[in-house]
Amino acid sequence: MKKILVTGALGQIGSELTMLLRKEYGVHNVIATSRRIKEGHEELIESGIFEILDVTDGKSLAELVKKYKVNTIIHLAAILSAVGEKNPQRAWDINMNGLYNVLEVAREENCSVFTPSSIAVFGDSTPKDNTPQDTIQRPNTIYGVTKVAGELLCDYYYHKYGVDTRGVRFPGLISYETLPGGGTTDYAVHIYYDALKHKKYTSFIAKGTKMDMMYMPDALKAIVQLMEADPSKLIHRNAFNVTAMSFDPEEIAASIRKHIPEFELDYDVDPVRQAIAESWPNSLDDTAAREEWGWNPDYDLDAMTKDMLEKLRVKLGL
Ligand code: NAD
Repeated sequence: MKKILVTGALGQIGSELTMLLRKEYGVHNVIATSRRIKEGHEELIESGIFEILDVTDGKSLAELVKKYKVNTIIHLAAILSAVGEKNPQRAWDINMNGLYNVLEVAREENCSVFTPSSIAVFGDSTPKDNTPQDTIQRPNTIYGVTKVAGELLCDYYYHKYGVDTRGVRFPGLISYETLPGGGTTDYAVHIYYDALKHKKYTSFIAKGTKMDMMYMPDALKAIVQLMEADPSKLIHRNAFNVTAMSFDPEEIAASIRKHIPEFELDYDVDPVRQAIAESWPNSLDDTAAREEWGWNPDYDLDAMTKDMLEKLRVKLGL
């Protein structure tokens, strides 16, 4: 990666990835873009190159890629699972047309592309435990449908046009910097805020529902490591299963109680997000990522809990 354009740069992943890329690749080599300016991101906006970009506007995207001589696009702009179910037409438009625009400009301007896929590409008919890299992908959310179609489209551009497309199927991502954008695994972020503020959390995901998760530093590491990987070693490009841990609400609560013994967890289950969670795997097999580009996460549940609570205490001034 030399000149990197990031779409959706003010989101949960983008806000941290942009700062990391600026540090590792140089402030002048990272072009952060967002559909609009959002409060709370002044440092990111002011400390490097920042441009307004709606990814459904392919012409503006192409102009930015040419203007800055971009050679890598990290495409993060998307509508996530729970929000997508509220307006499936908008989710299709942004997720599919945004990706199409990115791939077209990458084809014309010879850029590499990273697009995150998700555990949402799996559905009820997928094997739930140790879900294989190559398996049944029949999701029942619009988000999952766009992610499966996106994986196929990225592979198509690689085989048909030689565009260097790469991606991972991220599990739920947990971070303290920016709140998640309306996914099904968001409970695993909110629980830490409420544990510190109220010593109590009401979960919208039911007891016993296991999902894969990852701490943000590992997610950022995965993106950089995959984009820097030797292309001749990559058999599965779009997209690799990656995971760091798998837990249910009781297990994350138990991890929090090691630091806040009085922490209480109760439930008010949201049927929409619960149905989505139940259609996703309990745990992923990420052997292909480990073998093809050396994936190896640093944080397990307890290491993440310790760091999250420490960082959030400072952020919340507690
Ligand atoms: P997010 O919702 O926090 O950020 C996405 C950003 O895209 C938002 O800032 C939003 O304003 C922006 N956006 C929406 N429509 C846009 C448009 N038309 N043009 C430009 N920007 C637009 O999401 P995130 O968690 O940072 O996710 C980034 C990517 O990673 C997405 O593709 C998502 O599907 C994927 N992913 C995320 C997770 C997770 O747990 N966070 C898990 C799996 C996959």
